[in-house]
Amino acid sequence: MKITGISTATKADEDLDWEVVIVGGGPAGMTAAIYTARYGLKTLLLESAVLGGAQATSPAIENYPGFKFITGIDLASRMKEQVQATGAKIREITEVKSITRANGNSGDFILETRRGNYTAKAVIFATGGGHRRLNAPGEEEYTGRGISYCATCDGPLFRNKKVVVIGGGNTAAVEAVYL
Ligand SMILES: Cc1cc2nc3c(=O)[nH]c(=O)nc-3n(C[C@H](O)[C@H](O)[C@H](O)COP(=O)(O)OP(=O)(O)OC[C@H]3O[C@@H](n4cnc5c(N)ncnc54)[C@H](O)[C@@H]3O)c2cc1C
Repeated sequence: MKITGISTATKADEDLDWEVVIVGGGPAGMTAAIYTARYGLKTLLLESAVLGGAQATSPAIENYPGFKFITGIDLASRMKEQVQATGAKIREITEVKSITRANGNSGDFILETRRGNYTAKAVIFATGGGHRRLNAPGEEEYTGRGISYCATCDGPLFRNKKVVVIGGGNTAAVEAVYL
């Protein structure tokens, strides 16, 4: 995503004048939407895929208070229902391509997407992070079915089993100690 202070985007006729636009519909973005909408701010949540974020790929979540066990998809859809109930608007399959500002650096933010432009007084980034992948054969196929990137999330699912930690840095050492 490109962020500049130069106004290059043009305003569309619709979807202008949001008080807050949140970029990213994972748990962080959905939480932000619940807060800003409940606070009475006109809120729009933009997500490049469907709401849920990284958790939605998890077959089992056992460390979220209130749920002894829930699949990532189910947790994501409950979060989405909660966002909808606040009145915040959601646009899925809407990737933010660039952000500029009207009137030089002093005007509203203009968020450019393939579905049009949106303007906002404030923008919250909740675009998440990514894991550094090994790019080994089978890695993608078995992610969530034996391959994991988070010991505190998934370690207990492999209790009494032999696990291998790949990596030699601080994070790998911390995960190995935890496991
Ligand atoms: C397989 C797996 C299992 C997991 N299991 C657990 C678990 O059991 N317990 C636990 O606590 N955590 C677990 N996690 C971690 C948890 O999913 C993450 O900590 C959490 O999703 C982070 O939330 P986030 O909202 O910050 O980011 P993300 O979930 O990464 O959400 C960011 C969102 O932003 C969107 N986005 C990015 N760029 C743009 C853009 N330009 N325009 C619009 N949208 C954009 C992305 O599509 C994404 O949906 C797991 C993660 C994975 C991958």
